Amino acid sequence: MSAFSNAMRQLDLAATAMHLDSFTLERLRRPERLVEVDFPVKMDDGSLKFFHGYRVQWNSARGPYKGGLRFHAQTDLDEVKALSFWMTIKCAVANIPFGGGKGGVTVNPKELSKPELENLTRSFTRSIAPVIGQDLDVPAPDVNTTPQIMDWLADEFGKYKGQPEPAVVTGKTIEHGGSEGRGTATGQGAFYVFDAYRAKLGLDPESSTVAVQGFGNAGQEIARLFHHHGYKVIAVSDSQGGLHDENGLDIPEVIRLKKETGHLVRSAEAREISNDELLRLACGILVPSALENVITAEVASEVKAKLVLEVANGPTTPEADMILAKQGTTVAPDVLVNSGGVTVSYLEWQQNKIGEHWSETEVFQRLKPMMDDASSAVIRVAEEFAVTQREAAFIVALKRLDQAIRKTI
Ligand code: NAD
Repeated sequence: MSAFSNAMRQLDLAATAMHLDSFTLERLRRPERLVEVDFPVKMDDGSLKFFHGYRVQWNSARGPYKGGLRFHAQTDLDEVKALSFWMTIKCAVANIPFGGGKGGVTVNPKELSKPELENLTRSFTRSIAPVIGQDLDVPAPDVNTTPQIMDWLADEFGKYKGQPEPAVVTGKTIEHGGSEGRGTATGQGAFYVFDAYRAKLGLDPESSTVAVQGFGNAGQEIARLFHHHGYKVIAVSDSQGGLHDENGLDIPEVIRLKKETGHLVRSAEAREISNDELLRLACGILVPSALENVITAEVASEVKAKLVLEVANGPTTPEADMILAKQGTTVAPDVLVNSGGVTVSYLEWQQNKIGEHWSETEVFQRLKPMMDDASSAVIRVAEEFAVTQREAAFIVALKRLDQAIRKTI
């Protein structure tokens, strides 16, 4: 199953459960605009090489398109369409005034030098410049894209417009108009959501261990927060594989070494495990924080966690969802769990538009009630409709999207 067909299955399930208006459903099955670009990049040896990129603008009924840019060797149109659709749902669950979009370039950025990465970002920005803008489509970071890359994008877009427009992109460095707290917002937001499920499921630090797959921006922060709140994080992994220690890993040290060496460094107590093994570990809380489609039907039947906290986008296939639901595993869905990132992006966009810079405390004071509202809306609807948490999140979003879409007809 492709990520996009999974996304459409999720849409259909929720639409059926809530009797969604048929026009709204058809609108949400189609993007408003698909942009595919081939653009040249000057390489260090003086040659020019073409790269392929995408910007998919799914829906703008609730506001400008919003969503990240991914630089990854496997990025293709199907993936970007799925991510763009999920952004539409996510912004509606978070109740922020944005629609959904997503973009990406098919490239392994680790094979590029820093000047080549900058050339690629600037050339891609020029290719999509006619369809982005602070009130039209606002990109952000995603897998393998950084605040530095967002700065290059903002700078190049400013040249295209003939004047600076920092609110064209979020996730910039603080010096270039980024928001305090954006770097840790996804992990922090996910922890606020976890807190809403913690009480419901009785997941306290004494009885619940944690396994985190993916140790990048989002994965490191959620692992750090669990560790900080007294949970034993027994396993973490990155694309090279993982570490496992039944007694709990020293997460601040694992983060320090990962930053220093670029790798997960094994301590004397830890053993190496594969990514697949990590998903099947006996633990209370499983936190996929890497890529999509990792919890397949086969993996799901061996998941032992009580809660799957989806920090990654689309980590669980629809078949796996059904198996997890049957075996009583709660899945806190991606469109809710990782919406802290886009919510702080919204706060960055607001700050840029009014020329203010808020402290991290102010940012998180705004983020927390927004995440709490979103979590309680989803949990309430799950009870009201007797559906899974994912279907509930979709129902919350679809009700809001339905109202907005009807006004556009
Ligand atoms: P990142 O590039 O910082 O980190 C990705 C991590 O996943 C890295 O540790 C990488 O080694 C690991 N990884 C890559 N391929 C893997 C594989 N096959 N198996 C196991 N691990 C693998 O990316 P990120 O920003 O942390 O994003 C991670 C996920 O969270 C993505 O699904 C992304 O869409 C989602 N997300 C991120 C944000 C954000 O603000 N960063 C917001 C919303 C959603």
